[in-house]
Amino acid sequence: KELPADLVMDNRSRQVYKACFSFVNPLKPSNPSLVHSSKNFADELGVSLNNKAKLVQVMSGATSFNGFESYAMCYGGHQFGNWAGQLGDGRAINIAEVDLKDGINWKFQLKGAGPTPYSRNSDGLAVLRSSVREYLCSEAMHHLGVPTTRALSLVKTGDLVLRDIMYDGNPENEQGAIVCRVSPSFIRFGSFEIFASRQDKENLQKLVDYTIKHHYPQLGENRDKATYLKFFEAVANRTLEMILHWQRVGFVHGVMNTDNMSILGLTIDYGPYGWLEDYSPLWTPNTTDAQNRRYRYGNQPDIALWNLVQLANALYPLIEEVKGFQTILEKFRTDFQARYHQMMCGKLGLFNDQNVPKEYIQKLETLLEQWEIDMTIFFREFSKNITDFDVFWKGLSKSSYLDKEKLETGKKDWAAWFDSFSKYLAQENTSREERVAKMKSINPKYVLRNYMVQLAINDAEKNDYNLLDELYQLLSKPYDEQPEMEKWYAKRPEWARHKVGCSM
Ligand code: AMP
Ligand code: MG
Ligand code: MG
Repeated sequence: KELPADLVMDNRSRQVYKACFSFVNPLKPSNPSLVHSSKNFADELGVSLNNKAKLVQVMSGATSFNGFESYAMCYGGHQFGNWAGQLGDGRAINIAEVDLKDGINWKFQLKGAGPTPYSRNSDGLAVLRSSVREYLCSEAMHHLGVPTTRALSLVKTGDLVLRDIMYDGNPENEQGAIVCRVSPSFIRFGSFEIFASRQDKENLQKLVDYTIKHHYPQLGENRDKATYLKFFEAVANRTLEMILHWQRVGFVHGVMNTDNMSILGLTIDYGPYGWLEDYSPLWTPNTTDAQNRRYRYGNQPDIALWNLVQLANALYPLIEEVKGFQTILEKFRTDFQARYHQMMCGKLGLFNDQNVPKEYIQKLETLLEQWEIDMTIFFREFSKNITDFDVFWKGLSKSSYLDKEKLETGKKDWAAWFDSFSKYLAQENTSREERVAKMKSINPKYVLRNYMVQLAINDAEKNDYNLLDELYQLLSKPYDEQPEMEKWYAKRPEWARHKVGCSM
């Protein structure tokens, strides 16, 4: 589509120096329409979505929000382990910043609203497929208790977007769409890295001071080396919490580049993400990473640490001392190991985790992988307070992707593992009811399996949003039983095996 002359000037791709953002206007959509909006989130924010006409106008970029001067942010990043220089919001534009009833100043951002100075060679647009994925998953993650950016609305623009889905040289027109993504901040590790890479210490410090003032006020008023180090430590702690939650629910981000690491420890940028079905530390949903598998499930904690090292490098000019960073990074490693053990024991209902050897959890992980056990179903079945092996075996059969005969050959290995369980359980001092309730709040019954979101996309592309809404409702209570929704408590169907997410 032809851009208006003034927009071409504003939005031309370029290097942007000494600035955190550039003012830019969203592209005018041809014929915007509402696909879905997040009533749960709007209620939390205390905003009304009743005026649908206005909602569509603002959330598609057709009209500004109360004359707010919209902008796209500048950041750099390490992509797949290599410094990539300036990246920035190539297809996201911040359209509002509003103080809401929770006392938080929320930033509203349209993803797919047209080119910005950071679009490089791409179009600044998003398709319905990738937008449904981001919209459903960010809300699902929130209700799973995972720190994340949120999504308020999903609109179609009425424009077509050219995409080469399978990289097969046959690009196809797809429906354009925009998610309104919402967060207290969209500042990333890469926002700091870009200034450090340009030896722009002045703006690096300004950004750090801004971030502390608005997002880490508990660090106080001092702006000295000790405070900057405490800031780094606080970011490391939040990052640890986020990764721990990912491992708990079996979420694989797929593109943990440093430009996709939120300074608030929020999950950000839902691209080729996926959910573990049969448990495998080696699995990644990202087809472009299939060789190295850098961003595989089991590598997420180490990658978080690697990314924190990049952030440490970026902050170094403000601190000029390595030791403090090293202590914090080393602590991340040991803290993560301890917290991970505690978390996995918790999934088994063992809240006295000091008494459970690390090897016991490792043995379980090996068995889950070897016998192709669906992670979600396994832990949820286990949450029924199983003490009898025959009952356990029934639940296990329900969760394995192997055929029954093959699985039978593993029975004695599982029996041996299950045998020790009663020993650890005997050390618990919680009541049965308490333990079951706690386990059910740790082990979700429903997650956004890859094939589920694909089914919702297939329908949405034909203007049928019922399934999208059904999954949205389902995943707003992922820990509840929801007996009428039992069909989503099942292994993925055979046709969906090895299917991956697509992000473009
Ligand atoms: P990601 O891998 O999604 O984190 O994106 C990496 C970079 O590419 C970011 O700077 C994005 O803003 C940019 N980008 C991704 N898709 C597009 C697009 N369709 N148009 C312009 N920029 C894009
Ligand atoms: Mg990104
Ligand atoms: Mg992305």
